[in-house]
Amino acid sequence: MKLKDKVCIVTGAASGIGKAIADIYAGEGGKVVIADLNLEAAQKAADDIVASGGQAMAVAMDVTSEEQVNDGVAKVIAAWGTVDVLVSNAGIQIVNPVENYAYSDWKKMLAIHLDGAFLTSKAVLPHMYAAGSGSVIFMGSVHSKEASPLKSAYVTAKHGLLGLSRVIAKEGGKKGVRTNVICPGFVRTPLVDKQIPEQAKELGISEEEVISRVMLGGTVDSEFTTVDDIAQVALFFASFPTNALTGQSLVASHGWFME
Ligand code: NAD
Repeated sequence: MKLKDKVCIVTGAASGIGKAIADIYAGEGGKVVIADLNLEAAQKAADDIVASGGQAMAVAMDVTSEEQVNDGVAKVIAAWGTVDVLVSNAGIQIVNPVENYAYSDWKKMLAIHLDGAFLTSKAVLPHMYAAGSGSVIFMGSVHSKEASPLKSAYVTAKHGLLGLSRVIAKEGGKKGVRTNVICPGFVRTPLVDKQIPEQAKELGISEEEVISRVMLGGTVDSEFTTVDDIAQVALFFASFPTNALTGQSLVASHGWFME
C-alpha cells in the first residue's frame, strides 16, 4: 500500500481523470476526499470507494470560492486531522478564437484553473507545513507547454500552473512540501467529448478529423491517453519517497509533446 492512511484531497474527482486518481489512491490505502462542484456525483464516487472497501468522503466545493475551499478543507481536518496530498484537478474547457472569446469566459477559465489551484494550495499548505510533509500536484496539460488555436484561456492558465508550482516548490522545500505538475495529452472524458463538435464547427472540419488530426495527429501511435495512465502518474508523484522530486512536470501524451 503506497498511500496507507494518507489523507488525499482530489478536486474535480466526481468525473474523468480526478475520479480515476481518487480510485487508485483509495486502492493504495489513501483516505480520499472527493471535492467537487457536483456534490451528488461526488457522493456517488465516494460511496463506490467505500463499498469496495476503501476510505472516502465527499465534499461540496467550488474551487473558485475561497469560502467553499476553506470550509471543505476544514471539514477534512475535522474528520481526518491532516492533509497529506492535494491534487488540484478541477477544470473545464471553453473553445473559441480570441476575437470571439467572451471576457466572462476568459475570467471563468482563469478562475477555475488558476484561482482554484491557488486557493486550494493556500488552504492546505499550513496543515502540510505543520506536519512537515506534503505533496501538491497540479493538473496541467500538454497545453502547459504547447499552444493550440481556440484555447487562449486554457493554454494561458495551464502555463501559469507551472509557475505557481515552482514557487510553492521553493517556498515549501524547507518545510517538507513538494509540488509537481502532470501534463496529459488528450484523454476521452466529458471535457474532451464536449469540445469535439465545438472544434469541428470552429475549424470547419468533421468530428472524425478533429479526433484523428487535432487530437491524435501529433501522437506516435494515434492513441488517446487514458484516465488510468494519468492516475498512475498521480500515484507516482503522491507516493514518491523523498523530496528530490519537486518543481517538476511530467508529460504523458503518447509522444504528442516531447521534451
Ligand atoms: P471532467 O469534465 O471529466 O471532470 C472535471 C470535474 O471537475 C467534474 O467533476 C466537474 O464537476 C469538476 N469541476 C468543474 N468546475 C469545478 C469547480 N469550479 N469546482 C470544483 N469542481 C469543478 O474533466 P477531465 O477531463 O477529467 O479534466 C480534469 C482535469 O484534467 C482538468 O484540469 C483538465 O484541464 C485536465 N486535463 C484534461 C485533459 C483531457 O484530455 N481530458 C488533458 C489535459 C488536462
